[in-house]
Amino acid sequence: MKKPFIDLSSDTSTRPSAEMRNFMAAAEVGDEQKREDPTVNRLVEKVSQLLGKEEAVFLPSGSMCNQIATRVHCQPGDEIICDATSHLRNFEGAGASALCGVSIYYLDGQKGVFSADQMAAAVRPVENHFARSRMISIEQTANHAGGVIWPLETIGEVCSRAADFNLARHMDGARLLNAVVATGISAQTYAEHFDSVWIDFSKGLGAPVGAALAGSKEFIQDAWRFKHQFGGAMRQSGVIAAAALYALENNVERLAEDHTNAKRLYDGLVEIEGINVQPSDTNIIIIKLSELGCTGQEFNEKLIARGVRLSITGKMQLRAVTHLDVSRSQIDETLVAFAETTNEFGG
Ligand SMILES: *Cc1c(COP(=O)(O)O)cnc(C)c1O
Repeated sequence: MKKPFIDLSSDTSTRPSAEMRNFMAAAEVGDEQKREDPTVNRLVEKVSQLLGKEEAVFLPSGSMCNQIATRVHCQPGDEIICDATSHLRNFEGAGASALCGVSIYYLDGQKGVFSADQMAAAVRPVENHFARSRMISIEQTANHAGGVIWPLETIGEVCSRAADFNLARHMDGARLLNAVVATGISAQTYAEHFDSVWIDFSKGLGAPVGAALAGSKEFIQDAWRFKHQFGGAMRQSGVIAAAALYALENNVERLAEDHTNAKRLYDGLVEIEGINVQPSDTNIIIIKLSELGCTGQEFNEKLIARGVRLSITGKMQLRAVTHLDVSRSQIDETLVAFAETTNEFGG
């Protein structure tokens, strides 16, 4: 019998469960653009409460949340400050420049986390030669740093210093709920330092699509204008909003299992010679292959032949992300596949 495929390439690879699909099928719907979709209305109400913000807006993707927040906070010619590893900088098709007309000043933080001093040193003097520093963005958790949790204390320092410079504070909370489950600190406590914050439903929460961006009433009013302008205003989107509601009801606490599985994966991987593994605060393990002398692509192809897929995040680097469609026993199978593949490359 062929083993089922173990997809650790991303927590976006989760598929909606039968229960989630039933819940979606039964959703009441209306025209979202007229604010008449009861399911979307329930969802944004729930997200505003969760994040302690006045209002929220449902959007098709996390990338659109970042872009709309940038567009609301900044004018063309403004500049954003974020970490070098951030999604906003690297993985949104240069949307910040293409859609918002802003430049990005990136910082070399410690595993995705920069300090208030680093941030302050990046703020441009108010002078006509320079871009206008206008917004900071932080990622909770820092994805490409390995699911790293920004400590609340650092968030407080960075955000209060940013406020001194009159910078808008934005949180890319694609995996904020992973941080919440791992630390026991509430989403609201993390979010209170920010003018805008969003969560993704299509990552570890297991929904097929969707994200929600939250902020003040005025911020969301502006966000709605760009939701239309960027083509993200939908119609009977209650069908997909229902998946997000289901996810918030059923799939948040269980993120702890993903963290336990990531730890199990890490504990097994460190025993394997020839690879270098970074521990994770949450569900993302970074694996460096430099000692083996093979590329991430070569290694991944051999893993795929053994029924396991990771993502390639550098020439000699792979990333494994645990999620609700990967069980504990599949982690053990992954470790076997890893040991065999490493042997094959002479590790
Ligand atoms: C996935 C991700 C995004 C983008 O979300 P999409 O819903 O895939 O557009 C943004 N930021 C971070 C940190 C992410 O991991």
